[in-house]
Amino acid sequence: MIDLVHIATLKANRLRPTTVRLAVLSVMSGYEEGTHFTIEKIVDDLASSGVRKSVGSVYRTLKEFEDSGIVIRHLFDSIGTVYESNTGTDHDHTVCVVCGVIKEFHKTEFDSLRNEVVSESKGRLIKHTQILYVVCENCL
Ligand SMILES: [Zn+2]
Ligand SMILES: [Zn+2]
Repeated sequence: MIDLVHIATLKANRLRPTTVRLAVLSVMSGYEEGTHFTIEKIVDDLASSGVRKSVGSVYRTLKEFEDSGIVIRHLFDSIGTVYESNTGTDHDHTVCVVCGVIKEFHKTEFDSLRNEVVSESKGRLIKHTQILYVVCENCL
């Protein structure tokens, strides 16, 4: 099925609506908001929907999505690279070092401190990432 919303998303980002791009967007749109997914998960979910794509081709697609701001990429210790849809909502992450569960949080106090540091540096903030490695309540 051709999804006009996904075609529009790609066009807005100057990407041609190729089968692999549309298939990846379609799989991603089935995820709950705040899902952090690996390349392998996308490959598996594509396969379950009858679309066979290699890890390499999904990697390239996600790289294009990252460059366009459709997804955000994270690198977490012991988990590796995960992606999430870019909903435009600023947040940071906690990662459980035992079970690998990833949770999101947003503390305005962190934002204020960050802005203070950037302003003191007289530079401009390009990217920030705050990852708190924890042992989650289920693993304690
Ligand atoms: Zn845990
Ligand atoms: Zn997140």
